[in-house]
Amino acid sequence: MKKNALFWELEQDYIRCKLCPHNCFIKPNHSGICKVRYNEDFVLYTSAYQNICALAIDPIEKKPLYHFLPGTKTLSFAIAGCNLKCKNCQNSHISQQIDCVDTENLTPQEIITICLARNCPSISFTYSEPTIFYEFMLETAELAKIHHIKTVMVSNGYICKEPLLKLIPFLDAANIDVKAFSEHTYYELTGGKLKPVLETIKTLIQQNVHVELTYLMVPNYSDDIIQIEQFIDWLISEKLSFVPLHFTRFFPRHQLTNLYPTPIDHIRKALEIAQTKGIAYVYAGNVSL
Ligand code: SF4
Repeated sequence: MKKNALFWELEQDYIRCKLCPHNCFIKPNHSGICKVRYNEDFVLYTSAYQNICALAIDPIEKKPLYHFLPGTKTLSFAIAGCNLKCKNCQNSHISQQIDCVDTENLTPQEIITICLARNCPSISFTYSEPTIFYEFMLETAELAKIHHIKTVMVSNGYICKEPLLKLIPFLDAANIDVKAFSEHTYYELTGGKLKPVLETIKTLIQQNVHVELTYLMVPNYSDDIIQIEQFIDWLISEKLSFVPLHFTRFFPRHQLTNLYPTPIDHIRKALEIAQTKGIAYVYAGNVSL
């Protein structure tokens, strides 16, 4: 469904989108990198509104969030699209192929009604990248607050500070994916940058949102010890050692089917480094050790 987009400005005949750090410069009749925000007659619209492509009730631990409403269910949904192009994407059928996805039209009020009927204490914006359905997420989160329902964003953290600050009063928890810990690898693996993601993490925590972090260990990209150590050192230097950290095992997907799953020893080593350096809560994901 077509909806006026938030966070953009007109620059001569072009539109500058200010929702995520790509800051796409969009000419008439074209869309940004995410493909869902487009310039039509010098107005920015989003097509990511009410067209739900996935809806399910999950354990909150699946997000993963281990320190937020443990043992509860969360109503989880997505609208197709993403602002990154991760070569390892686990959900590329809904993040990258937005035109071939079946959708169901649901309003924010209908999402709330389902949540209440199923007795879920929280709603999660998840599966794809919620930043690209920002307007729908914001409206749903605002409505959730009125009904005393908690809200969760499972995100790549690739969002500008202004829209993030507008969302935060209606956001209770977030799991942020840190895809690598070097700018070179970030760009190579995702097409994005690391620094804005770190800024998002700091902003969320400063604003008292419950945050947990996920680090997917992709062989030959993000699983080397140097990046892991630098990531942990950054957490310690920012006084974020209390933030729960999930090291997740990679399995070959999307454009990286030529790779092997993360060796178990690499996961063990990452856990050991984090624990030794003082991270309080460290978990392994996608694997039982
Ligand atoms: S949200 Fe989409 S259009 Fe806007 S800057 Fe990001 S990728 Fe570009």
